[in-house]
Amino acid sequence: LLLAYEPAKRLAKLQVQMERAAVNAQMIYEILDTQPHQRDKQGAGSFEASNARIEFRNVTFGYGDNPPVLRNVSFVAEGGKTTALVGPSGAGKSTVITLVPRFYDPMEGEIVIDGQNIADVTKTSLRQHIAYVSQQPYLFEGTIRDNIRYGRPEATDGEVEEAARLANAHDFILAQPLGYDTPVGENGVTLSGGQRQRLSIARALVRNAPILLLDEATSALDTESEALVQQALDAAMAGRTVIVIAHRLSTVVNADKIIVMQAGQVVEQGTHESLAQQSGGLYARLNNLQAAPNGPISI
Ligand code: ATP
Repeated sequence: LLLAYEPAKRLAKLQVQMERAAVNAQMIYEILDTQPHQRDKQGAGSFEASNARIEFRNVTFGYGDNPPVLRNVSFVAEGGKTTALVGPSGAGKSTVITLVPRFYDPMEGEIVIDGQNIADVTKTSLRQHIAYVSQQPYLFEGTIRDNIRYGRPEATDGEVEEAARLANAHDFILAQPLGYDTPVGENGVTLSGGQRQRLSIARALVRNAPILLLDEATSALDTESEALVQQALDAAMAGRTVIVIAHRLSTVVNADKIIVMQAGQVVEQGTHESLAQQSGGLYARLNNLQAAPNGPISI
């Protein structure tokens, strides 16, 4: 029996991994795409951003018929501030992020941005206000310029270049054989992990959206690359409402607010100082375990 069970278990696991990969691919495609794919509510209005304040109100959500993976999640990501999501693997951090551009809708509760329930506005108008930087930047066949412009197809060459400068990408782009016209992707030049990340940040910057969703990379870069990527991220985060799945202690410490999640629920929230002082709290315990400066906070 065991022999029969093991492969089945492995298969089930693979299935989940494949589904998750598909969701990620969809996320990259759809956030950056301005065409509507899915039906909106009849009479859905256009989303209007003011200060981009995001509020989760008692949000419960599960994938398909599976049990909920988020239960009664409530928090506010203030406009123009950085909110960090931390918690163990499987706590629901990525799921929180996928609900903001409405890849899925909550089963219960609502997500309100600038006073508008996002279920009542068109997905296209909502997503135009959102940029996403993933852990594993996706580059498609095309030139470097195309890959950055994908963030906003109507961006001018000047705007593409400005975004690349802010993202610390301009210099390495000019060093490529054809500069901005160098092909990347499967048949193009090979870029380092840090360079790919900076291109993906430039893509988010050219979009100039008030909301930035960020899944911080866990894979280590060399120190120089790390500093260049961090500077680029700082430029992208400035003045925006950021929700970041944080893996680095420095991101968490510098966040305006930290949301600690566990098993689909928000168990604590506050600043690093306030949470670190709550003796016996999950954050305080994790913080003590992970006190290495700038070390990964893979909790
Ligand atoms: P990690 O840090 O490992 O990425 P996380 O905190 O981001 O974890 P989620 O990825 O949101 O957690 O996962 C929460 C739960 O939802 C997990 O049990 C996960 O297996 C499940 N899950 C995530 N995506 C899907 C999906 N597309 N279909 C079914 N279940 C999913």
